[in-house]
Amino acid sequence: MPSFAIEPPPVVSLPIAGSDAMFPVRRVYCIGRNYAAHSIEMGGDPDREAPFFFQKNPDNLDPSGEFPYPPNSTDVHHEAELAVMLKSGGVNIPVDRALEHVYGYAPALDMTRRDLQSEQKKLRRPWEIGKAFERSAPVGPVHPASEIGHPSDGRIALAVNGALRQEGDLNHMIWKVPEMISYLSDYFELAGGDVILSGTPSGVAAIARGDVMELEVQGLGAMTVRVV
Ligand code: MN
Repeated sequence: MPSFAIEPPPVVSLPIAGSDAMFPVRRVYCIGRNYAAHSIEMGGDPDREAPFFFQKNPDNLDPSGEFPYPPNSTDVHHEAELAVMLKSGGVNIPVDRALEHVYGYAPALDMTRRDLQSEQKKLRRPWEIGKAFERSAPVGPVHPASEIGHPSDGRIALAVNGALRQEGDLNHMIWKVPEMISYLSDYFELAGGDVILSGTPSGVAAIARGDVMELEVQGLGAMTVRVV
């Protein structure tokens, strides 16, 4: 063991459904505009855009079930997403081998300070202050692929205070999970512990303190997150 000059930060880890073991997180990649209807609502052209990615920080993932309304924003949006957890990685992974690297899946929210993100877009600056803030990615328990398989279709929906806001189907993703893994591995070396947020269907909208968000991904159950 090396000695550390300061207290080493804890390993970020997520609960696994039906297990006492935890899933340790290494990196978090997020794809933008991966459902056609959401791409259109954000002003994009879904037919011609190559995939693009941004990152959140590992410790932005938060399984607590509470989302503290973040500072410096008056327009914080929910984005309901399927999270993909890798157990291994590499570079130049072919699409037809990509799912061999998946450990499991979880429901997740890519919470976004939309006002800050929009400003940064206009200024052609990076998105971190809009996307990678504290506890910006509430996440449910990880469901191992060894138990649930690899969901490629199924309903993904988000309700706020019981009213449906977002609804889509995993098979509406423009870039499917194996394609995302393969594409990312051409640009980065992927590894076990990496998490990919796979994009959101249309219907993103603002939340307020006191709201209760309920995310449901078919096959993964529901996740309830309270805005505090
Ligand atoms: Mn997103």
